Amino acid sequence: MIVFMALIELKNIKKTYTLGETQIQALRGINLQLHEGEFAALIGTSGSGKSTLLHILGTIDDPDEGSFTMGDQNVLSLSENEKSYLRNKKIGFIFQSFHLVPVLNIYENVELPLLIQSHLSKKERHERILQSIENVGLKDFLHHPPNKLSGGQRQRVAIARALVTHPSLILADEPTANLDSATTHKIVDLLMELNTMMKVTFLFCTHDEKLMSRVQRQIRIQDGVII
Ligand code: ADP
Ligand code: MG
Repeated sequence: MIVFMALIELKNIKKTYTLGETQIQALRGINLQLHEGEFAALIGTSGSGKSTLLHILGTIDDPDEGSFTMGDQNVLSLSENEKSYLRNKKIGFIFQSFHLVPVLNIYENVELPLLIQSHLSKKERHERILQSIENVGLKDFLHHPPNKLSGGQRQRVAIARALVTHPSLILADEPTANLDSATTHKIVDLLMELNTMMKVTFLFCTHDEKLMSRVQRQIRIQDGVII
């Protein structure tokens, strides 16, 4: 029997945006636990609050109210420095539009998050980068620039970059929204394989109902609450 530990716990998370005179309640009291090694999909229509929730989980943005723990840490009480340390060490991001650096080749793109991790030797860094690129099936493309790759391949590079730091949590914000359906399925397969292989917790957000049946745990969000 596998016993999952709660890696993350959100309680009553609220977030309101102010646009001129208008208040938009993007999150209206989110309660959520994510367990170690889990692969979960956050599903909701456009505007339901998925990205806002991912930004809070990724410590890119703060909620107005609520509590957020990761392991035994109270994330909302951390200083900006502590948060950026946590973000770099423990959290990997994958975005819809890949966010690769066009002037860097594939190897250099994947290397980026390691450049601020001083505890790794040059050799360890090199090995991690190669392993990470190999894990996503792109070892023949090390010296290619991103614009020589297809959309699916670019997303694989972004996945390798997110995993190269060996994070505990991967947050993927509609990672397949710019891909055709065959490529989408390959990317989802790859994410699930990596989840099993690396024991990383994945929260994958999508508005694509077709992907749902494939995912272990489905979390539905509507108008800023989990239903
Ligand atoms: P999703 O990712 O599910 O499409 P979002 O989290 O982006 O949803 O948005 C939730 C709600 O908050 C929407 O109504 C959106 O328009 C609003 N919103 C998101 N970001 C901002 C922002 N920076 N300023 C104002 N409103 C925002
Ligand atoms: Mg979004």
